[in-house]
Amino acid sequence: MRLPADYHMHTPLCRHATGEPSEYAAHALEVGLKEIGFSDHSPMRQDNFDDWRMRLDQLDEYVEKVARARRDHPTLVIKLALEVDFLPGHEDWIRELASRHPWDYLIGSVHYVSDSWAVDNPYKLSEWKSRDPWEVWSIYFERLAMAAESGLFEIIGHADLPKKFGFYPKQDLTPLFARFLESAKKAGVALELNTAGLRKDCKEIYPSPRFVQMMFQMGIPITFGSDAHAVGEVGKDLKAAVELATTVGYTEYRKFTARKWQVAQICSNEG
Ligand SMILES: [Zn+2]
Ligand SMILES: [Zn+2]
Repeated sequence: MRLPADYHMHTPLCRHATGEPSEYAAHALEVGLKEIGFSDHSPMRQDNFDDWRMRLDQLDEYVEKVARARRDHPTLVIKLALEVDFLPGHEDWIRELASRHPWDYLIGSVHYVSDSWAVDNPYKLSEWKSRDPWEVWSIYFERLAMAAESGLFEIIGHADLPKKFGFYPKQDLTPLFARFLESAKKAGVALELNTAGLRKDCKEIYPSPRFVQMMFQMGIPITFGSDAHAVGEVGKDLKAAVELATTVGYTEYRKFTARKWQVAQICSNEG
């Protein structure tokens, strides 16, 4: 199987990943990838916002690390991107970030359902225990729809992230996801099939098979990402993501250059 482009990976600058971009690139070539994209956690305007992203004064260093990976591995296509946290009110900051470097794409992700709680933060698990999961999922998908509609992003990251630790509401999530997909469809954004979920308690790709099926039925374009935070995770489980995509009917995915998309074929055949 020829692997699709892996568009989601991090660097040590975010303080919870290991390995240099150049090492990620070397591993990408080893596992047969032809194209990758770095999308580390974007800086906030205020560095003290949290402790799991690069500082603002490290943005140039990030771009330089990616440039070095390109110089070291000229046969690999390497895209420059960011995984940007979407919070309501941060739009101007995101526009400012977008203008600072020639990004190939921006992934818009919702981690925060309030200014102080990121639902995927393992150090804040106790928050989940004191909240109604339905309320959390509802806020999450509202914010995700706002992210899609903002027009600030080419890709929406890990669209059902609140499942990470297995806190599901009793209610059917389908209407929440369907409403979000209407926004995504109108905005023309792609949704990422992110394999990191397989390595978490939920043991499932983000988004779930049921959601990916709904995405296909609505004609929502996709991208692929391992969300690698370590060298060995580059390209991880992309075969499973390809299988999920092709099982529901996808034959194509999106690649990006200078924030413009092009269609690429998903190759599910052996060889
Ligand atoms: Zn991360
Ligand atoms: Zn993320």
